[in-house]
Amino acid sequence: TSAQIGVTGLAVMGRNLARNFARNGFAVAVHNRTAAKTRALVEEFGHEGSFVAAESAEEFVAALERPRRLVVMVKAGEPTDAVIREFAPLLEPGDMIIDGGNAHFADTRRREQELREQGIHFVGTGVSGGEEGALNGPSIMPGGSAESYATLGPMLEKISAKAADGSPCVTHCGPDGAGHFVKMVHNGIEYADMQLIAEAYHLLRTVAGYEPAQIADIFRTWNTGRLDSYLIEITAEVLSHVDAATGKPFVDVVQDQAEQKGTGRWTVQIALDLGVPVSGIAEAVFARSLSGHSELREASRDLAGPKAAALGETEAAAFADQVEQALYASKIVSYTQGFHEIQAGSDEYGWNIDLGAVAAIWRGGCIIRAAFLDRIRAAYDARADLPSLLSDKGFAEEIGAAQDDWRAVLVAATQQGVPTPGFSAALAYYDALRAERLPAALTQGQRDYFGAHTYRRTDREGSFHTLWGGDRSEVPA
Ligand code: NDP
Repeated sequence: TSAQIGVTGLAVMGRNLARNFARNGFAVAVHNRTAAKTRALVEEFGHEGSFVAAESAEEFVAALERPRRLVVMVKAGEPTDAVIREFAPLLEPGDMIIDGGNAHFADTRRREQELREQGIHFVGTGVSGGEEGALNGPSIMPGGSAESYATLGPMLEKISAKAADGSPCVTHCGPDGAGHFVKMVHNGIEYADMQLIAEAYHLLRTVAGYEPAQIADIFRTWNTGRLDSYLIEITAEVLSHVDAATGKPFVDVVQDQAEQKGTGRWTVQIALDLGVPVSGIAEAVFARSLSGHSELREASRDLAGPKAAALGETEAAAFADQVEQALYASKIVSYTQGFHEIQAGSDEYGWNIDLGAVAAIWRGGCIIRAAFLDRIRAAYDARADLPSLLSDKGFAEEIGAAQDDWRAVLVAATQQGVPTPGFSAALAYYDALRAERLPAALTQGQRDYFGAHTYRRTDREGSFHTLWGGDRSEVPA
């Protein structure tokens, strides 16, 4: 038997991806370090399509038609290297190793380079959508060589999610680590989206005085408009859920300490290296870590806060509308920042990533899927070299129309002592970009004063230094 594709690593993701390939008519070779999982998969789901169970690496490789396409779906990090070390010697030039795990793009670049010397295509591929997506159609972000995409692309298109217009949620992001980089930023944006939604909830609960079930209804209404998205939809589900054991809202019985696996943190670390201000994503990562510092929070319980008075019923309804505006405006800013990071990564590594195509493949399958992404795609389609999403006329108009309410929400949040790091960072970014002059001129003066770091002038070319300790005359640097 010869299989068109193979999947090694049969935990939730690999198993569901293998089934997805099989259900789409591909013969799939399956393999797992612990062979019991391979047998279990074929026993349970063998009827769904054509599977070839392989017990050993040699059997697995032998089962694949050439050029071989081998999907690796194991724990990211060292396990991926271990699997590559095991399989690479068994492969031949032209074969492909497709890493669908959540690898760091720098690891992907290293692996791609090492395997290229052996003539093997290493295709670092972002996969989003969790286990459900892996089975029924994920959003897929492959990197690697254009040559590998020529035959792999059509297979991925078959198993991927489809956007509302029917187009497959997969595109060749660019060479080597481009796919995993795009997936990393996807997750960073996901963190920001979740934080903004959490802040909206917190405001509706604390300032407007709504109960979780009422807030669920508000989110359901928002989900019929411009905020229509998977994350808003599941937020309503979580908020309306009642804990069976206590009869309380589920959200009130869960510990308020958010965890993270690391892709949001990577997005911020890389943004720092690239010099890209992703303040909204950074605040989302920090908000999760702050929530986890229980000792710090415990020690701070008695700090003074404002005397808060909840709003009356009519005021509350009007406030909810303003929160929708603030959420939407802040969301535009997060995506502006995330796409800026992708552009910067693309420039740094020469990936030539098509930002409009990235927005298009995030419309379905992935966690941040949203109607909104169609707008982003349209913005980049209209102008591929858009300096920033905020320079798109449509987004500029919308955020301009939202800004009064956005500010009003932050006034209320400040007065009532509700932390809104995401909303606030987004507004600060917006106001900083708009500003005619920034206080950075003063910062430059300070740097020149204490460290002779020099500055540039608004009226003349060149760099200058002021003799601060002397007669304060200016000299060219
Ligand atoms: P896990 O990340 O839990 O990985 C378990 C799999 O890795 C098992 O098949 C295990 O084999 C294998 N494995 C671990 N160490 C080794 C090793 N040294 N050598 C060989 N195989 C090894 O599984 P998931 O399905 O959750 O995720 C797979 C990948 O997909 C990860 O990189 C993850 O980050 C990524 N991902 C996960 C998503 C999710 O929603 N879970 C979403 C998108 C991507 P064994 O059975 O023998 O222990």
